[in-house]
Amino acid sequence: MRKKVVAGNWKCNTTFQEGIELAKAVNSLVVEKGAEDVTVIVGTPFTHLAKVVESVDTARVGVAAQNCAAEPKGAFTGEVSAAMVKSTGAQYVILGHSERREYYGETSEILNKKLKLALENGLTPIYCCGEALPVREANTQNAFVGQQLEETIFRLPEADFRKLIIAYEPIWAIGTGKTATAEQAQEMLAYIRELIRAKYGDAVAQDTSLLYGGSANAKNAAELFAKPDIDGGLIGGASLKPDDFIVIVNAY
Ligand code: PEP
Repeated sequence: MRKKVVAGNWKCNTTFQEGIELAKAVNSLVVEKGAEDVTVIVGTPFTHLAKVVESVDTARVGVAAQNCAAEPKGAFTGEVSAAMVKSTGAQYVILGHSERREYYGETSEILNKKLKLALENGLTPIYCCGEALPVREANTQNAFVGQQLEETIFRLPEADFRKLIIAYEPIWAIGTGKTATAEQAQEMLAYIRELIRAKYGDAVAQDTSLLYGGSANAKNAAELFAKPDIDGGLIGGASLKPDDFIVIVNAY
């Protein structure tokens, strides 16, 4: 059975102290009134990970890094390896976010190295894919996203693929306030599930959690989550507001 997942991506926001307060506030709300069948995750800056892990009930609030290095260790100044992330107690890592692809040149080749290291270190990758506006305007989004998957996660053996969470995040909807319609999100996630079915079979397709991300918020989450192939959300801006985030967690 696939899981319902609501994952926050804090991006480059919050000082250490602010982040710990935010994590505690999210944790209290989730423990007090969060739907128990929803896997809640907070994606924090690297600097916050270990303390956030200590500050939350990790049975209710999972902790994710937003990236990891493409190399296991060594002379890579400023990088944070998958093993380091794992050693903080974090269980997840967001990989392939469009901001990483766009601003930091993350190619499929780099992502494949990161995926391998994340999996080897026992982290669950939250793998992001999605098209930019010109691709959507040309109505070639299915081919574009299909190729992203072919070049990366579809190269994984089934046992590794089964560990993934996948988030479809159309770039034109991220941080823009312009949400994809529930129909557009459903259409793409149904297509992705179909591709998974063709590649790994029906059982894997049915078991894989597929999330939507892109200006999802407390107002539109229920409509998005009502769609049959949308198993949850990757939430940016609204994950910084605990009162909104808990509404999203409870939006099924
Ligand atoms: C994201 O960063 O993954 C995201 C979906 O951001 P936002 O919700 O702010 O659009």
